[in-house]
Amino acid sequence: MKREILCLDCGKRKLPSYEGEHDKSQFGKALVDFVCDQCGREIPKGSNCYARSIWAEGRGIQYYEWEKGYIG
Ligand SMILES: [Zn+2]
Repeated sequence: MKREILCLDCGKRKLPSYEGEHDKSQFGKALVDFVCDQCGREIPKGSNCYARSIWAEGRGIQYYEWEKGYIG
């Protein structure tokens, strides 16, 4: 599973995905300072952002809840 913290612009954008891939985006406030994994923009603690998970069906690490440690 790939985990990304995204700024609002990148989080709203429909990002390309491959067949058999799933993704989940959760909206919340950054618990610490982040840098957007797509565009490199700073996401200061307390600002709105997205936590995105991407995983492939049947291989690799399947989705598990990780967002709580990063956004609230
Ligand atoms: Zn971004």
